[in-house]
Amino acid sequence: MKDDEQWRDKLTDEEFQVCRGKGTERAFTGEYWDCKEPGVYHCRCCGEPLFDSGTKYDSGSGWPSFYQPASADVIDEERDTAHGMIRTEVMCAKCGCHLGHVFEDGPQPTGLRYCINSLSIKLEPEAGS
Ligand code: FE
Repeated sequence: MKDDEQWRDKLTDEEFQVCRGKGTERAFTGEYWDCKEPGVYHCRCCGEPLFDSGTKYDSGSGWPSFYQPASADVIDEERDTAHGMIRTEVMCAKCGCHLGHVFEDGPQPTGLRYCINSLSIKLEPEAGS
């Protein structure tokens, strides 16, 4: 796993603050909250495929929202008690990149809402789209 200095070289300041510093981009400002392009969203840090556009939906939150990850083992979860809230943080299982949080108010079939920072992911558009 890379250390902070190596990530600083690879990421922009904004990306570093969110991905390695567990920051949150402002709602309705990210690259993907309103994106409907088909493709696969990869980890901004290590390139691991994390979410498929087919599971993306408009949650109205201003952040890209998915009802499930590409597969269960690409995501790590951790209890987060920062900012006076009890939330479940989600991270890239491969590199530890902070992605966002998961909430239990999502649509079927999972009832989950993975609320993800655009800065933590990178869309690889579907070929031919
Ligand atoms: Fe990663």
